[in-house]
Formats: sequence, structure tokens, C-alpha cells
Amino acid sequence: SNEKKVLFTIFGGTGDLAQRKLYPSLFRLYKKGKLGDHFAVIGTARRPWSDAHYREVVATTIQSLNPTQAEAKEFASHFYYQSHDVNDSKHYNTLKKLADRLDATYHLNGNRIYYLAMAPKFFGTIVAHLKSQKIVTENGYNRLIIEKPFGSDYQSAFELNHKIRQVFPEQDIFRIDHYLGKEMIQNISAIRFANNIFESQWNNRYIDNIQITFGEALGVEDRGNYYDHSGALKDMVQNHILQVVALLAMEPPVVFSEKEIRTEKIKALKAIRIYEKEEALKNFVRGQYAPGELENRSFKGYREEDKVAPQSTTETFVAGKFLIDNFRWSGVPFYVRTGKRLTEKGTRINIVFKQVPVNVFKTSIDEPCKDTSLSPNVLTIYIQPTEGFSLTLNGKKVGQGFNTTSRKLEYRNSAEMVENSPEAYEKLLLDALKGDGTNFSHWEEVAQSWHIVDVIRKAWDQVAPEFPNYKAGTMGPVAAFELLEQDGFKWIWQP
Ligand code: NAD
Repeated sequence: SNEKKVLFTIFGGTGDLAQRKLYPSLFRLYKKGKLGDHFAVIGTARRPWSDAHYREVVATTIQSLNPTQAEAKEFASHFYYQSHDVNDSKHYNTLKKLADRLDATYHLNGNRIYYLAMAPKFFGTIVAHLKSQKIVTENGYNRLIIEKPFGSDYQSAFELNHKIRQVFPEQDIFRIDHYLGKEMIQNISAIRFANNIFESQWNNRYIDNIQITFGEALGVEDRGNYYDHSGALKDMVQNHILQVVALLAMEPPVVFSEKEIRTEKIKALKAIRIYEKEEALKNFVRGQYAPGELENRSFKGYREEDKVAPQSTTETFVAGKFLIDNFRWSGVPFYVRTGKRLTEKGTRINIVFKQVPVNVFKTSIDEPCKDTSLSPNVLTIYIQPTEGFSLTLNGKKVGQGFNTTSRKLEYRNSAEMVENSPEAYEKLLLDALKGDGTNFSHWEEVAQSWHIVDVIRKAWDQVAPEFPNYKAGTMGPVAAFELLEQDGFKWIWQP
């Protein structure tokens, strides 16, 4: 059978992430037989819950997956709760005893996955205790899954990594970037490497520019505490957006394996230009939302949000231009933007191809053609909320004369299909169970991403921003549009 034998220990087992993502994902794996009789989960957090209460909570979190009562009960019976303060060494001894007992009961062969679903400030101490209190086993594997953010700049990321590497070798560290588990992000590679018409054009001779948008319609919601100290640059660009840039820009791997893909991604990241201060200020713009209205709903400004400083200078929007100094991409701007309280939620990539060398439709011998402009060919990859891709081509407008018009070939997965496809977290958990780190961020990728982002952050920190500078419900500040206009381009996606 392909059942995995393992003990999960989830630090932060009462938290939002555990309840919304982890338990439902484990249940989906259970339904598919990837987890069976030989798995157990220890949930730990500070609250003094009983096993019975914990199991009720777990059963509730999987209700939307429509389990039978017996199924839910049987699944939840694998869950054990241990109240635990991660700063208290004594508690790790209790944890060890429970882990060893479950290992024996369920015949888990010492295989352990530790999932840190907690604030990153605790990562260092948890990991150190796993070793000093001998919770890591010698007979099986020991793997660590950690959530973002991984550090708040290169230096802090380096220190955190150093602590973790005292206990876990790189191959056993699974740094989650949940976007890497998404169907259409993984599809970037299929589109590129399985279609000759694209890969043969995938360079600076045929591509004008690439645009990546990670738009959110929501505001900061209840994350003000965290977000006001982070901002969009660190929250989105350093991790998700740069990972997508790497996947779009990398050379074809020799084979589609973790090691080979990793090598190519790191090379791509290393080719991204690290800006001097002036370049950073010119190529990256930031924004913060002011109150605004959209479709008869009105929204607060960021500074009025809960747990946000009233004079906050945190950016809720970033737009920028990355330049990649290698043979393939030299001269092709990669524009990125992300923000909260934008017009529409949506993550998508637009690959904008160069125009034909001469527009032969612009004149005729007898009379000039009215419609003189051709649209560029654009390949769009839709990542969320719908998944799919489209390609815009020019065709002839029906009727007299010869005018062109742009047409879209489109493939989008139905909402139903998206619903039934495995969740990002489900895929990533299964990858970790298999020991496959392809869809996780390697230390070298994290480090290089921080180098790229740190100079932008530093440049911004020396100049007071004029915030707020965009209305809630719009696609960001004027500067974000000017950024492309200066280069003779425009954002393809303008909801
Ligand atoms: P949360 O605040 O809901 O949960 C935190 C958990 O940590 C709780 O179970 C709490 O009891 C426990 N905890 C706090 N202090 C403790 C201590 N001293 N000892 C033992 N337990 C303690 O947080 P969350 O939203 O679940 O996020 C967890 C991590 O996941 C964070 O790193 C966050 O950045 C990351 N993350 C969360 C989401 C999400 O959707 N919630 C998405 C991406 C990343």
C-alpha cells in the first residue's frame, strides 16, 4: 500500500492555519489512503484542551468535506492533544513521552514531521528543544515544515537558518510557500516545457515584458498586528512573487526533478539585478490605501484599520520592475504588483510578446486603414480565483475592408474542478511525506530573495512616503501606472 507511516507534531495546533488548512488537508490524504492506520497527530499549544475536545475540533474542521460520522470519528481518533508552552523545557519531556508512546502504538518506525504553525519568533527555540530533549528520532526520518515569513531581512533569515541547520539538514527542511502548491503555478512549467511554440519564443527576442499581479480585494482584516510590521514588500514580493519570477525565468531543467529545478531557480534568482539605492527608488513604487468606495460599499483607509498605527508608513501596495541580467532576459522588464484593497482579487501572469516587425495593415494603396494598431500577443496564466490560460491573437474583423481585431483563445477550469482539485496544503503535505522538496523554498533561494528585497526596503526607509496614496477599490497609486508608461507599456490587466 502507499500508506505513509508518520507522526505529525503540530506546534500551534489550536491556531487558524491548523484548523483552516492542515486538518482538512490531512483528512483529504486520509480519504485517499495516503494516511491510514499508521499515522498519528499531536497537536500542541498553550490552551489546556483534552484529547476529546481536540478531536471534536478536528472533526468540525472537516465538516465541509462531508465525511460520514464513522469516518470523521475514526480519523479524529488519531489526534492527541498536549498542552505545551514552547518556551518551557520541561514540557518537551512530556511531549517526547507521548511521541514515543504513539510511535509504538501505531508502528510509525520513528518517522516524524514537525509542523511549526506558529509565530516565527518561536521557531528557533522549538527546533533547539527538539534536539536537546531528544524528540528527534534516530531510526526514522525527521522533517521540519515551517511557515512564512522566514526572517524579516537577510540577516535575521540567516540567523534563523543557522539555528535550524544545527538540528535539521537542508534536505529535511520544508519551507512552505503555499503558492508553490497551487495547480497553475505548477502549470507554469508545463506550459513552458511541454509546448514548443512557447519555449522557442521564451526570451528577449520575442517577449516584450512580463507582468505578474497578485491582487487582493480584502484589506488587512484582523492581521494588522503582523502586517503593520511587515508590509507588502516582505509579505508578498520576497517570497511568492520572486518564486514566480524564478519559475518564469529559469532555464529548462535537465530533468524535472527537485535538484535540477532548484539549480535553475537559483541561477535565475542570482541573475536578477540587485539595485543601487537610486535604481531601487526609480524601479519600485509603494502605496497605502485611503478610504474608498466600490460597488456601493465603502472601505476604511489602512490607517483606520484595527491594530494599525494611526500614522503608519507601512505599504499595502508595491509595484516594481525587476531586470534579469542574463542572455535570455537582458532588456525584458518583469513588472510585478501586489496590493490590498484593489479592485478585484486575482493572481495572474501576462506574458506580452513583441509586435510583428512591420504592421502591413496600416496603409493601403488607395486609402489608409482606419484601425492602425495591432494588439500584442499575450499569454495569460490565471492562478486564482479561476485557473487556466488564454492567448490573445489578432484576426480580421468581419466585413468590408481589412481591419484587425484581437481574439482570445481561452481555457479556464470550472469552479467545480478547482474545488475538487487537491488543495495546495494537501499537495505540499504529501510532498513532505515523500521527502520531495521541489515545491518548497530552498535556503539559497530565500537568501537571494532577501538580498534583492533588502536594498529596496532600505532605500524606502530613507524617504518618508506620501501615504495614503491610492483609494481603496482601485488598482493602486498613479505611480504604478507611470512605471510602465515610462517604458512605453501598460498593465494588460486593468479591472
Ligand atoms: P494563530 O495565532 O492562529 O495560531 C498560533 C498558535 O500558536 C496557537 O495555536 C497558539 O496557541 C500557539 N501559541 C502561541 N504562543 C505559544 C507558546 N508560547 N507556546 C505554545 N503555543 C503557543 O496563527 P496562524 O494564523 O495559525 O499562523 C501560524 C503561522 O502560520 C504563522 O507563522 C503565520 O505567519 C503562518 N501563516 C498563516 C497563514 C494562515 O492562513 N493563517 C497563512 C500563511 C502563513
